[in-house]
Amino acid sequence: MKKKEFKSESKRLLDLMINSIYTNKDIFLRELISNASDAIDKLYYRSLTDKKVKIKKESLEINVNFDETLRTITVSDNGCGMTEAELENNLGTIAKSGSLAFKELNDTKKKDIDIIGQFGVGFYSAFMVSDEITVISKSFESDKAYRWNSKGLDGYTIEECDKTNIGTDIILHIKEDTEDEKYSDYLTEFKIKDLIKKYSDYIRYPIKMEVTHQHKKDKKNKNDEDEFETVKEIETINSMIPIWKKSKKEVKDEDYNHYYCDTYYDYENPLKVISTSVEGVVSYNGLLFIPSHAPYDFYTKEYEKGLSLYSNGVLIMDKCPELLPDYFSFVKGVIDTEDVSLNISREMLQKTKAVNLIAKNIETKISKELADMLANDRDTYTKFFKVFGTNLKFGIYNNYGMDKEKLQDLIMFTSSKTKELITLKEYVSNMKEGQNDIYYASGESIEKIDSLPQVEQVKDKDYEILYLTDYVDEFTLNALVEYDKKKFKNVSSAELDLEDNKEEIKQLNEENKDLLTLMKDEIGVNEVRFTNKLKTHPVCLTSVGNISVEMEKVINSMPGDESINAQVVLEINESHPIADKIKKLYKTDKEELKKYSKVLYSEARLIEGLTIENPTEISNIICELISK
Ligand code: ADP
Repeated sequence: MKKKEFKSESKRLLDLMINSIYTNKDIFLRELISNASDAIDKLYYRSLTDKKVKIKKESLEINVNFDETLRTITVSDNGCGMTEAELENNLGTIAKSGSLAFKELNDTKKKDIDIIGQFGVGFYSAFMVSDEITVISKSFESDKAYRWNSKGLDGYTIEECDKTNIGTDIILHIKEDTEDEKYSDYLTEFKIKDLIKKYSDYIRYPIKMEVTHQHKKDKKNKNDEDEFETVKEIETINSMIPIWKKSKKEVKDEDYNHYYCDTYYDYENPLKVISTSVEGVVSYNGLLFIPSHAPYDFYTKEYEKGLSLYSNGVLIMDKCPELLPDYFSFVKGVIDTEDVSLNISREMLQKTKAVNLIAKNIETKISKELADMLANDRDTYTKFFKVFGTNLKFGIYNNYGMDKEKLQDLIMFTSSKTKELITLKEYVSNMKEGQNDIYYASGESIEKIDSLPQVEQVKDKDYEILYLTDYVDEFTLNALVEYDKKKFKNVSSAELDLEDNKEEIKQLNEENKDLLTLMKDEIGVNEVRFTNKLKTHPVCLTSVGNISVEMEKVINSMPGDESINAQVVLEINESHPIADKIKKLYKTDKEELKKYSKVLYSEARLIEGLTIENPTEISNIICELISK
């Protein structure tokens, strides 16, 4: 019989499995059982819509057997089975979306191996523990059965064979023990039972296996000693009750963590588990998780939000996006309800009242849990916010600020005073007497913002400043407009003036109008002015209107043709020696003044983290000035 080759990407995954760099070999059984359960699901669904497909619901089951001497483990199901073509396509190529994503990881160095845990490696994982795999399958759509066989990398064969009932048997030939690895452990009742209990307890079909029990023998005489006999019985190993249907008391934290890590292929326990059970207009059980870190594809278009939707324990949809608002898209979990019918279509789902009601409840529940965490477990909340805070801030600014009230008390910014994250509520309660506004400053990092000249005047008044380092921050505050009736004020706004000598400055600018206009025309900004807001620094760049210099940076760095310009003002410290110098130059040497203007403007741009358009010219001017 001719051997066929695996497709190249499958080969790579296979190679990885055979050489088993991935340490958690135990998962192979879970993967096979989950495939078996999916196959039974498929057949069951078909029977709901296709009268020709007849099944006995009670007889749907998965069987696990092992033979110590032959070194085999067999996983059998009476699900949909596979045709010859399906065996070829499904087991010769990577089918799974997760495995596909895996394929895209083109670097399989050791450090990336953890990532494998994030994908379901599926069928191939069996090669971690087997040196030969045989699949015997008969599809419900075919009269013939086929045997697929492979000893690993050199390919596989498919031939016709005998099998009476519909379904699939997967027979693993377990590897010989090595110095490092005792594969024989898998050929024990204890180990297999343990793996089923641990990873597949909530599979909704019975997973049956022959187990050994010691039974007390009936006594002939009352005074005889106890005698035991060994009895083998077929038993259902899994409890079949999904974890979300069990009461909180019954479930240990580690069970939730296990379930989460296995289901969502995460290597880190969730930050928060939310278990909820509601009875009323709609009834449902929900089990939600907030991950400890963002999924690898969270910030890509590929990431799909949603919760798994079950109707009475039967999965209807893997990721139902309607159940989660965008700003909580990081939440994972399941909803199980009696109020949605099994064969509902995707289109109908959006219009289903029950789904909308559940979604509303879930949103409120998550908000409440987050608020509780913020109030009672600050460290965890801070950790959460550092990972998913951007998502909440987006939520405020999206949808024309429609959801801002729900989210405004969940967001945080760094305080200029403590350099820790604080909420808006905390900011307001810290406000000084006579302070009416909420001050903020934005920039690339806390350190950079902290050294901005504009920050000085506000700090001087002992007012707290919110440091905005996330690119969405300023847009978020713009969408909020105000909090607790306090307006947000950018310290880099040209309009901001906290000093008392406003009239004097106005007069000073009036007197030097021609000088300032000359400078403005030379550098091409909206305005040049003397200022009283700087304490020690010579210059700073501010802006008038709604678009700040930081926002200009963000918008212009986005893909697309859109570009926007902030209305920039160059402010010069009126009490700095440079102020007198330029006034003098205006009278004595206008050409020299023009050069000074360029240098001062470049300085202000650099402080803001902006680039200089004509660096060569500027550096020549500087050299000329300092070598005088
Ligand atoms: P995944 O299950 O993630 O799609 P696998 O590599 O585990 O990836 O399996 C590949 C495909 O093989 C499955 O999608 C399914 O179509 C088929 N398959 C695997 N096991 C069985 C089974 N026991 N019965 C029927 N089909 C199966």
